[in-house]
Amino acid sequence: MAHFSVFSLVRNALNYHKDWPRQWRSPEPKSHYDVIIVGGGAHGLATAYYLATECGITNVAVLERAWIGGGNSGRNTTIVRSNYLWDESAALYDHSVKLWEGLSQELNYNVMFSQRGLLHLAHSVHDMQEIGRRGSAIHLNGIDSEFVTPEKVKEMVPFINLNCRYPVMGALLQRRGGTALHDAVVWGYARGADAAGVDIIQNCEVTGFKIEDNTVVGVETSRGDIMANKVGVVAAGHSSVMAEMAGFRMPLESFPLQALVSEPLKPLVDNVIMSNGVHAYISQSDKGELVIGASSDAYTSYSQRGGFNVIEDTLQAICELYPVFKRVKMMRQWAGIVDVTVDRSPIITKTPVNNLYFNCGWGTGGFKATPGSGNVFAHSIARGEMHPVAEPFSMFRFHSGALIDEGAAAAVAH
Ligand SMILES: Cc1cc2nc3c(=O)[nH]c(=O)nc-3n(C[C@H](O)[C@H](O)[C@H](O)COP(=O)(O)OP(=O)(O)OC[C@H]3O[C@@H](n4cnc5c(N)ncnc54)[C@H](O)[C@@H]3O)c2cc1C
Repeated sequence: MAHFSVFSLVRNALNYHKDWPRQWRSPEPKSHYDVIIVGGGAHGLATAYYLATECGITNVAVLERAWIGGGNSGRNTTIVRSNYLWDESAALYDHSVKLWEGLSQELNYNVMFSQRGLLHLAHSVHDMQEIGRRGSAIHLNGIDSEFVTPEKVKEMVPFINLNCRYPVMGALLQRRGGTALHDAVVWGYARGADAAGVDIIQNCEVTGFKIEDNTVVGVETSRGDIMANKVGVVAAGHSSVMAEMAGFRMPLESFPLQALVSEPLKPLVDNVIMSNGVHAYISQSDKGELVIGASSDAYTSYSQRGGFNVIEDTLQAICELYPVFKRVKMMRQWAGIVDVTVDRSPIITKTPVNNLYFNCGWGTGGFKATPGSGNVFAHSIARGEMHPVAEPFSMFRFHSGALIDEGAAAAVAH
């Protein structure tokens, strides 16, 4: 594996960067693995990475039907935060933020994690009560958060229009929140997993599960059957399709969720600014593009486009909150298929089939959880017992009623 250092950069620069080795191999699938991970998004790759590096299981394959990072991992608006309401969520998301804080060093790959601070705007008395309740809960969980006045918001975001149709009445600030570069996260984990012995197999679609005596023993794929002792499915928007293949139902609905980026501008937006109330999310990439998160369509679908009305609504909200952007041109728009649960919390779980595990239901906000999700999922698969942080996120909570309702922190938010 190429080791990135100042010296390797200089050495390769002298040779016009022609000698860098490939970042990961492209092996043929073996007939048997200890663990197969279905889905080569950031969560799947992170799971494989931690299986190999922390759990000592290196005979692992990641099977990706297209190319790694081509799903939601490469389509999101890269917001990272841990300001969720309930203790279970705080444990999971802050475990992630702590891992984010050392991730570039751990992977020796610059994931461009930038803790630029995240403002969550409140536009109504109800919003103020919600951030009040959540902010206090976050404090009790030892996670940083501050209430800020409209004047302070104006200081941080001088171009904001505080007195718009839904005036800005205050905000919740998480200074440790921010962004990371999504592609770099995928590539960093892929490179690390590959170096630890994991086979990353692209263009390999899983079309069925091989199940004997209610125990998974392998998968059927577009490249033939591959046997495994354990299988972990991390297929985001297609998780309920995968569950159906295994013979049970996963309580998920799948919606297209859109994002847009503008033409590049000079540095202007220092923080991530989110508004659930008018539904406008904005940050600025290092290239200068405004990265704008829109909402999901109102109906379920697998079309990776999304409705035009959603773009219109989002841009109306952006123009009203930030009139300075009225003449900015949008460059690109896209959607990803997000897998949404009724309590807006993820599912990290054993399933009715022995040795078959699912990690899904991250909806509109799983990018931020990538390191923590992969980490606790890997330990759960390795031990055969759910990691204590993952335990409350079982799919069986929808039977027991022990829901983790993050409707306010996560329903429409990224
Ligand atoms: C527009 C948009 C904006 C978002 N913004 C944010 C944000 O700002 N912050 C945040 O925290 N989250 C955000 N999210 C959510 C976040 O992107 C996802 O929760 C996260 O990326 C999920 O990662 P994953 O690895 O589970 O999924 P994916 O990256 O989608 O990976 C799943 C993989 O499984 C593969 N797959 C599916 N079926 C099969 C099969 N049968 N065989 C083999 N492979 C299969 C797919 O091809 C895919 O590559 C956003 C999502 C979208 C769409």
